[in-house]
Formats: sequence, C-alpha cells, structure tokens
Amino acid sequence: PAASKPAAAPARTLAGVRHVVAVASGKGGVGKSTTAVNLALGLRALGLRVGILDADIHGPSLPTLLGLHGRPRMGKDRKLLPMQSNGLAAMSMGLMVDAETAMVWRGPMVMSAITQMISDVDWGTLDVLVVDMPPGTGDAQLAISQGTNLSGAVIVSTPQDLALIDARRGITMFRKVDVPILGLIENMAHFICPDCGSEHAIFGTGGAAAEAKRLGVPYLGAVPLTMELRAASDAGRPITAREPDGTLGRIYTDIAREVW
Ligand code: ADP
Repeated sequence: PAASKPAAAPARTLAGVRHVVAVASGKGGVGKSTTAVNLALGLRALGLRVGILDADIHGPSLPTLLGLHGRPRMGKDRKLLPMQSNGLAAMSMGLMVDAETAMVWRGPMVMSAITQMISDVDWGTLDVLVVDMPPGTGDAQLAISQGTNLSGAVIVSTPQDLALIDARRGITMFRKVDVPILGLIENMAHFICPDCGSEHAIFGTGGAAAEAKRLGVPYLGAVPLTMELRAASDAGRPITAREPDGTLGRIYTDIAREVW
C-alpha cells in the first residue's frame, strides 16, 4: 500500500486568541456540537469575545446550528474572515465545501483542512476559541490536541454506560497529551415532557456524576433532553442566544462560568 504522508499539525499558537477550548465526545450523536455552540454562547453571555471552530469535518453542523449561509469572505493578508452569528465568530468546513466532498477525505486532507481553518483564518482578538472536535479518539483528534495549544477540554456524554465508556477514552487521550480536562457535561440527562412537565431518566441517572468523580474530573452539570433545545438548534437559533435567562440558557451560562 502507498505510504500516506504524515498529517500536518495545525499551527500551535494563534495570535490574538487567549484560550482554545476543545469540546469533545467519545462517540457521535451525544450532543457535542449542540453543547459547543451553547457553551460558546454562554461564554459570550459572560461578556467574553468568543469564536467557534467546527473541526468536525465529516459532519459539520455549525452552519445549521448557527443558521449560517453563504461563504466566508477573504480579508487582508489572504486570510479568511470568520462569519458572525449571535455575537460569535464562526468557521466551519461546511461553509467551504459541500458535505459530500468532505465526507470522502482521508486523514491528511482532514488535517490540512483543520490547519487552514485555524491558521488561515483571521480570528481577530478572542478570549476563547471553542473547538467542536470530531467525535472519537483517533489520529485527527490526537493531532488537533497536540497541535493547537489547547487550554483545556470539555467532555460531553449522555448518562448511558456506552457513551460514558467512550468519554473515558477521550479523557485518557487528552491526559496523554497533557491537555487539562475542564470537566464533564452530562447531556440528555433526563427528558422533560413538554405536555405535563414530568421528568424521565431515559438513559439512567447519576452515572455521569459518579463517573466524573471516579475519573477525578469536575462534573459541570446536566442538560435535559428537551424538544425546545432540539427545535431551536435545527432552526439555527440556539437557545442560549435566544433566551440566555431561560432555564436552558442559564444551565449553559452556569457551565460557561465554571469553565472560564
Ligand atoms: P454530536 O455533535 O454529538 O453528533 P449533535 O449536537 O449534532 O450531536 O446532536 C445530535 C442531535 O441531538 C441533534 O438533532 C440535536 O439537536 C439533538 N440534541 C442534542 N442535545 C439535545 C438535548 N439536550 N435535547 C434535545 N435534543 C438534543
């Protein structure tokens, strides 16, 4: 087999960006991107200058979540300008190429695309750049973690055992490359019935808090499974931007305060 070239590591430092925080999950579909966007908006609600980078090349969801349209413009020094949405500077491969194209990219292409989105983008002055990581703990995740001078990582998991096992792997990976774990966020912790308001622990209860304790990482809080959150995300109007003082908005802002 043809030897593949080693993946290029993204630029280590980003002038003007104080902290880079990764949002990661062991497996897909646990709400990592939803969490990344709402955490970024929670940080923004604290008065910080915040950017968000969608490094989930194979399944970029940032354009949908933030309701972004069109293509990023080129600024000075041939650097791309991030798009602006809800007070966030945002960049996603989903804004650059169509989904089918990025879908078939191999490791080195993925890495060079991520490098470009980090170092060839004029992020300006930011307090935090939130990176929505690709799911899993493979080479791409490791390369981004090693290559971007991460200040820390936030792990998202559902309360389900299977997702927690994968979250554990993610934590191990970040520890291996000396990236501090800022904490574990439990997503879809319980279901709140839109009709009667009763709560149901569909994926079990208490597992994430217990797991966080066992692993010695902060437990940052629980986000319920709600129709409202899903609908707001699909509509490109994230809940924390729409109702920062609502029940869900406050959950994310509280988590942001703890992370910061
Ligand atoms: P991932 O990035 O882990 O693949 P997403 O953030 O794309 O996951 O979420 C997957 C789906 O679940 C999306 O449709 C999203 O709107 C929905 N979702 C995520 N978190 C919640 C939640 N707490 N309540 C309701 N729906 C959620």
